[in-house]
Amino acid sequence: MANRVVIALGGNAILKPGQSETVEAQLENIKTSADMIAKIEKLDYQIVVTHGNGPQVGNILRQNEEAKNIVPPFPLDVCNAESQGFIGYLMEQTIKNKIEEEGLTSEVVTLLTQVEVSAEDEAFQKPTKPIGVFYTKAEAEKMSKERNWKMMEDAGRGYRRVVPSPRPLTIHGVNSIVNLLNQNTIVVAGGGGGIPVSRKENGLLSGIEAVIDKDRTGKKLSEQVDADVFMMLTDVSNVYINYGKPNQEKLETITPEIAQKHFEDGHFADGSMGPKIEAAIHFARQGKTSIICALEEADQALLGKAGTRIVG
Ligand code: ADP
Ligand code: MG
Repeated sequence: MANRVVIALGGNAILKPGQSETVEAQLENIKTSADMIAKIEKLDYQIVVTHGNGPQVGNILRQNEEAKNIVPPFPLDVCNAESQGFIGYLMEQTIKNKIEEEGLTSEVVTLLTQVEVSAEDEAFQKPTKPIGVFYTKAEAEKMSKERNWKMMEDAGRGYRRVVPSPRPLTIHGVNSIVNLLNQNTIVVAGGGGGIPVSRKENGLLSGIEAVIDKDRTGKKLSEQVDADVFMMLTDVSNVYINYGKPNQEKLETITPEIAQKHFEDGHFADGSMGPKIEAAIHFARQGKTSIICALEEADQALLGKAGTRIVG
């Protein structure tokens, strides 16, 4: 049976820093991922693709804010679903074009994915994730009164809304994802960390104001589809210890225990490499392989010739 891989694409796969946020620019970037996915398909892997949505959902929130006196603004879960839809469409089309060009027969399908979190998650006690538009102090106070938003100063750039980033508990629709994989289909799912939902007291699923970390969702997806490999493709070729210092050292193939030791020694930044390593360690501990590498080297990394590989 073919090996199964979950590929989490980093922000740079869709927009690079400083680029204009047009559809054309995003499509152009996505071509690099599509080329890579076709190469991985040729290595005989069943593939699930997941991706970030930071700048894209930021723009959707901005559209909602700018037009709020004309069209009622949508809640965060709906904005996430919108971003999954449009990014998924761009990916599905670009991947399919490449697959056909390469003479491959796989289908490509995007699924809108609900990711269940616990309303009891401690993240709801202290929201930390800044999202959307920047406001002045006066506007921020108004928002917090009128809409009950939690506002926070963001690195001297103004005030932003902060929302909770709870842990994903269950990804819905996974049996369908597995069925599609077994039918020669590349599946795009769980985009932007997934649509955050929780169970209400009556047991019904309902959208919740939160965002879920895409690397955590990628790991959960890897577990639930029983993947052999979980890859996080980003803008650095490897994970380093002493990153950015003169004595930085590249990590190649390591055990989860060694990775954990480096994690505890504080080598990985909180908002970027930290969540990736945590997810990677957790997955590898289940006797699996996690890879963190550059998008352009993903096929080489799967062959053990590039990237950082945490092997359990
Ligand atoms: P993505 O959009 O792919 O999730 P992030 O910016 O969240 O990207 O994470 C990748 C970034 O993590 C790299 O660009 C790098 O600057 C940063 N980083 C922090 N600590 C490390 C480390 N120890 N080794 C490598 N990269 C690190
Ligand atoms: Mg990130």
